[in-house]
Amino acid sequence: MSKRVLGLFMLTVFTLASCKKENKAPIEDTQISAVLAEKVEPVELREFGYNLNDYTVVRDTIKAGDSFGEILQRNNLQYPQIYNIVEGAKSDFDITNLQVGKPYTLLMVDGDSVQLPKCFIYQPNKIDYVVVDFADTTVVKKGKKEVKLVEREATGIIDGSLYLTLQEQGLSPIVAYKMSDIYAWTVDFFRIQKGDRFKVIYTEKYIDDSIYAGVDKVKAAYFEHKGEPFYAFRFETDSTKHIVDYFDETADNLRRAFLKAPVQFSRISSRYNLKRRIALYGNRVRPHKGTDFAAPVGTPILSTANGTVIASERRGGNGNYVKVKHNSTYSTQYLHMKKRKVKVGDYVKQGDVIGWVGMTGNTSGPHVCYRFWKNGKQVDPFRQDLPQAEPISDSLKVDYLAFISPIKQQLDSLIFADPNANEEEFITELNQDNAISSKESN
Ligand SMILES: [Zn+2]
Repeated sequence: MSKRVLGLFMLTVFTLASCKKENKAPIEDTQISAVLAEKVEPVELREFGYNLNDYTVVRDTIKAGDSFGEILQRNNLQYPQIYNIVEGAKSDFDITNLQVGKPYTLLMVDGDSVQLPKCFIYQPNKIDYVVVDFADTTVVKKGKKEVKLVEREATGIIDGSLYLTLQEQGLSPIVAYKMSDIYAWTVDFFRIQKGDRFKVIYTEKYIDDSIYAGVDKVKAAYFEHKGEPFYAFRFETDSTKHIVDYFDETADNLRRAFLKAPVQFSRISSRYNLKRRIALYGNRVRPHKGTDFAAPVGTPILSTANGTVIASERRGGNGNYVKVKHNSTYSTQYLHMKKRKVKVGDYVKQGDVIGWVGMTGNTSGPHVCYRFWKNGKQVDPFRQDLPQAEPISDSLKVDYLAFISPIKQQLDSLIFADPNANEEEFITELNQDNAISSKESN
């Protein structure tokens, strides 16, 4: 059996923030200093903006029932002082919002008889931290850990789904989510087939050099569907407003006015069909003016385009539903939600969550019935020739093409490897792939 797919991972490391080197205090007596340097002088260990060597460091996590005050009390502070610290901190730090399981650190110094905390540091997530420093008056400081981005490359040949193929390689499903987002309009992910291939260059976040903090972003991707190539390059079109989009190798925008589906990783269980016959209703024609996307209860439902919510209610066979008006021509409607997230008048952007898949109203299983309205009539969204999103301006196009040139070369040089091929076949395949890519570059 031809089985599974092998990914190629290469690693380039680059640090965003530079390391600061602290000047060491001069030591007067060189003889002593030689001894000190060997025996005592510790390597400076900085974290949260403090030299940890100056303190006894207590690390713990918030437990159920813990409060800020209790933690301080447990660590030898008395109530009048705790009260003052709380009063000094509360306008900058919500001490009532400590979440169970999140880490905190206390920096302690010697007191008269016991160690006393001088500083409380709370980490709501892997990157951000909040320092409550009460060595003097209480000061709250917010900081971020230095994030190192590691670039990764992966390739694969689709066996079942993109999601499964990535999973088999031990890659984050977030990469699959991001790719299905990037290609939401370009490639029909409900119809990707065995043998479709992909390459992706993306970045991962690491903290303190080793703690994985998630996928950062997809820098570029290549998806080959039925032998047809689709490139995607991330590019910032407006550096002041930080507007970022994905474009192909000719600078066309990959995003369209509408997403192809209101849910990710679902399957179409019933298409728009005006002549549908249903056995349950005596085989009479019961037109289906929506497209049903089957997905588990609770799956987020996304607005397929920017627009304003014009209905959000529970009614009859529709169950919980939301309707979004996108412009004078188009509206979309989403039925049978478990729960709605938006109300009439809300402005939603393409890809915003507006509710969750459920089974309210007339439905035999969990799905979202997606209805596409054009000039007041329901039409099949898959038969509409919908416009592309903003293209790259002519003035930016030269910059764009220069920017993607090396990235495209990097993508093109990645090879799809088959783990089942023996070495000889593998090398033959490499040569063939190289031959193909050199042909392509002519
Ligand atoms: Zn339906």
